[in-house]
Amino acid sequence: MAIWNPWHGCKKYSSGCMNCYVYRRDGSFGKDSSIVAKTAQFDLPMKKKRDGSYKITEADNPVYTCMTSDFFIDEADEWRDDIWKIIRQRQELEFKIITKRVVRIMECLPDDWGEGYENVTLIATCENQEEADRRLPVFLEIPSVKKEIILEPLLGKTDISSYLSSGKISRVVCGGESGENVRPCDYDWVLDLRRQCIEANVSFYFKQTGTVFIKDGRQYHIERKLQMSQAQKAGINYTPQALPEIPDIFLRLSRSEFRSRFKLSPADIEYINEKGMDKIRSHTYDFIRKRLAPEYIPNDGKQTSMRGHPAFLAQHACACCCRDCLNKWYGIEKDKQLSEKEIEYIVDVLMHWIEQQYEK
Ligand code: SF4
Repeated sequence: MAIWNPWHGCKKYSSGCMNCYVYRRDGSFGKDSSIVAKTAQFDLPMKKKRDGSYKITEADNPVYTCMTSDFFIDEADEWRDDIWKIIRQRQELEFKIITKRVVRIMECLPDDWGEGYENVTLIATCENQEEADRRLPVFLEIPSVKKEIILEPLLGKTDISSYLSSGKISRVVCGGESGENVRPCDYDWVLDLRRQCIEANVSFYFKQTGTVFIKDGRQYHIERKLQMSQAQKAGINYTPQALPEIPDIFLRLSRSEFRSRFKLSPADIEYINEKGMDKIRSHTYDFIRKRLAPEYIPNDGKQTSMRGHPAFLAQHACACCCRDCLNKWYGIEKDKQLSEKEIEYIVDVLMHWIEQQYEK
């Protein structure tokens, strides 16, 4: 990991900034953090060593950008074009850009941004429900190849599930506030975020406890040097399972005698002719959402009939008939609500099978 601070200094922006570590550190040696100025590192990714190689290389990825300021602060508007140029030139570096000023992102993007640069991850930080609801709807609309959310310092229980279900967020990081005289972080808020991430199949990382940490109603004072290790000890980070590629899953299914036995009947073909593929897809989506997606299914294992709709046959043929089969064939955890992404994926698999059968 590398850090690139092309400018230093920032203006406090929202409640999350109250105990900003930049202010704390600068203050300790009498520096005014509110003055935003270019640094000697301004073109760091272009700097080379004596042997002609770059100082920052692919081995240093990711490159965290503007960690002692905000990338989209207006004081830096006249410098940002040069930074975009550098980012464009160093395609092999993965730049992570973290900001609270989500509302300014669109007006600060370069002309050739398109759907986003391949080597840039935009990261929105929010500290509580109010800021999440202010920033994240705007964030979701911004084109970007990769987007993440940071909730740090986490100042209250925050529901971001509706933003996660968009499928546009790949990772959530959360943590408490460090320093002295800081606000507490409750472990229940952290666990609640984790639950939301698992339900949406989004990666979750608990970075640090912060100084004042509440667990089971008890308040603890955690030393700075233990705040990260304590968070790791909790063992609650979550990495979503990658869903199998559709050609790979069909290759595996073709090796199963049981799964290969299922075929569409003439009555099924007639039904598809009558309804059309779009209608079949919409029925399939409804079946999956109602009968396979819920966290708790009372008749799991028996919910999929052997006849009555092409989707049912497809479910048996593709091992999407119950949560045990989904777990065994696709690695999708049981006892959790399926995410929208997982539902769409299953529908794609089933429709692939139906279309193949239809064309035979
Ligand atoms: S935006 Fe970040 S760097 Fe700027 S004052 Fe707030 S916490 Fe500090």
